[in-house]
Amino acid sequence: MKNIIFLAPPAAGKGTCSEILKKEFNYEHISTGAILRSEIASQSSLGNEIKSNIEKGNLVDDSLMIKLIENKLTNINNSFILDGFPRTINQAYSLDNLFKELNIENYIVIYLNIDKSLALKRTLGRMTCPKCGKGYNIYFDGFKPNKDGYCDICNEALSKRSDDNEESFNNRFETYINSTLPILKFY
Ligand code: ADP
Repeated sequence: MKNIIFLAPPAAGKGTCSEILKKEFNYEHISTGAILRSEIASQSSLGNEIKSNIEKGNLVDDSLMIKLIENKLTNINNSFILDGFPRTINQAYSLDNLFKELNIENYIVIYLNIDKSLALKRTLGRMTCPKCGKGYNIYFDGFKPNKDGYCDICNEALSKRSDDNEESFNNRFETYINSTLPILKFY
């Protein structure tokens, strides 16, 4: 089974596709955004350090992210999906070196592309169940919860990511165009 790297603008569906592939083929889903959000939720020193950066839609430091991925991949036995890494050309070079060190050759890069207005609508409508992690979108049929504001599975009140507002989205999209999109050429 091939390891997968997703490259995509914010809210293109990396996380959703990863979860489907995980269920179907038992992939290990490595979402850097989810790892960082759980650091923030646990109020670890790392979490406190990166919180305002993430809320504003800025990238977290390359060196920190590279270390995080190094730790993850060094201890992995399963086929994996990278959802959210690499996001800069520097991260892509580091990942390339890491793959060489770990003899990982079996991978593909999948580029998901959506336009900015659709990405914004998806971002503003995105809701998640804090208990089971299931994602919803209040603006799209098929993704709306059965009962407004509550999870279909656990009936928990759904929550919104603090960076899913228009200002942070615009910043994330701009960063994507400037820092992440150039990686396409590299692959
Ligand atoms: P989305 O793709 O919807 O923007 P993610 O959950 O992938 O959301 O990422 C959320 C935030 O986490 C990013 O805006 C960024 O601040 C931070 N982040 C995630 N992955 C990386 C990375 N590889 N490098 C730097 N920052 C990252």
